[in-house]
Amino acid sequence: MTRSSRIPLLIAGGGIGGLATALAVSRTGRPVHVLERAPDFTELGAGLQLAPNALRVFQRLGILEEIDKHAFYPRRLVMMDMLAGEEITSLELGARFLAHYKFPYWVMHRGDLLNVEVAACRASNLITLESNKEIVEIEDLPGGVRATCSDGSVYECDALVGADGLHSTIRKMITIDNAPVCSEYVAYRGTAPIGQIPQRPGLDTTARRNRASGTKSTRRCTNCPPAEWPTMS
Ligand SMILES: Cc1cc2nc3c(=O)[nH]c(=O)nc-3n(C[C@H](O)[C@H](O)[C@H](O)COP(=O)(O)OP(=O)(O)OC[C@H]3O[C@@H](n4cnc5c(N)ncnc54)[C@H](O)[C@@H]3O)c2cc1C
Repeated sequence: MTRSSRIPLLIAGGGIGGLATALAVSRTGRPVHVLERAPDFTELGAGLQLAPNALRVFQRLGILEEIDKHAFYPRRLVMMDMLAGEEITSLELGARFLAHYKFPYWVMHRGDLLNVEVAACRASNLITLESNKEIVEIEDLPGGVRATCSDGSVYECDALVGADGLHSTIRKMITIDNAPVCSEYVAYRGTAPIGQIPQRPGLDTTARRNRASGTKSTRRCTNCPPAEWPTMS
């Protein structure tokens, strides 16, 4: 058994949530240590929608501009009837939306978002990332927590944050936790090259700002962000 020296804050799970938490803690000047059970910090999932509230947080974490390089800007959010294939309702994401919420509405690949977070974490000397570390047991200590990993390594910390996902091990250890309830609705998501998406009327869909040249792409972009992001206090 190997034993680490005591660390202030330990995070179980290096997904989008765990790494965002690590960045938030580091921005307060405190050191933080992330343990991820997978061999690397990667996301296999497909797409992700990011609403203005998420972008606001990314701005505070200092990674908004980097994420912007990977983001697409839908012109409208369209809800379709699954059986009839007809439009039920839609939400315009253009100038009015931007004026109201101050931030646009993005879609992007989950892997791109996680990569930006990983790079920001690696650039911080307050954040330690360790992969191949699955926490299998936690124990309350006076004024702290002891976490044991499947490889026998032991970490003692002042506080532990469980960011280990839907089937969280940590949550089961601190509360009576039933298995997630399956609603029996299933959603499949995937990715396709944008050129393969049929350009049906009313579905002129995405636009991406070309940061390198400072110009907009030829696709219509009605909700590109302002030249300057709003300043958050
Ligand atoms: C179909 C679907 C669509 C969604 N769409 C959106 C969307 O469009 N926009 C949006 O904002 N949200 C969306 N969500 C929700 C969003 O995906 C989740 O809230 C988010 O991914 C959760 O991130 P997380 O880091 O908390 O958990 P996870 O991504 O599950 O990460 C948990 C991490 O912890 C690690 N781990 C697990 N157990 C341990 C352990 N014992 N020790 C160490 N590490 C461990 C795992 O390997 C994993 O890397 C969607 C969810 C689903 C299911």
